[in-house]
Amino acid sequence: MAKRRQTYEADGITVTFDPDVCTHSGRCVRGLPSVFDVRRKRWVQPEHATVTEVADQVRRCPSGALQFTLEDSAAGSEG
Ligand code: SF4
Repeated sequence: MAKRRQTYEADGITVTFDPDVCTHSGRCVRGLPSVFDVRRKRWVQPEHATVTEVADQVRRCPSGALQFTLEDSAAGSEG
């Protein structure tokens, strides 16, 4: 049975993780342990590094389980 894809949002970036695709290489937790820590319940915390650092690490995921989308921080200034 397929597991649900997980979504982790922070200012400027949203990281998604698909547990069905992850090959458990551990590259994310070794590369950026402040953000990726499987001991935490919310194991991806993108707010603990810069958007660039998170995006670079997500790109290194060998399986494609991790993906990210950037948010336009200039949008929505009214209100
Ligand atoms: S880098 Fe990608 S494949 Fe490796 S453990 Fe992290 S999410 Fe899974």
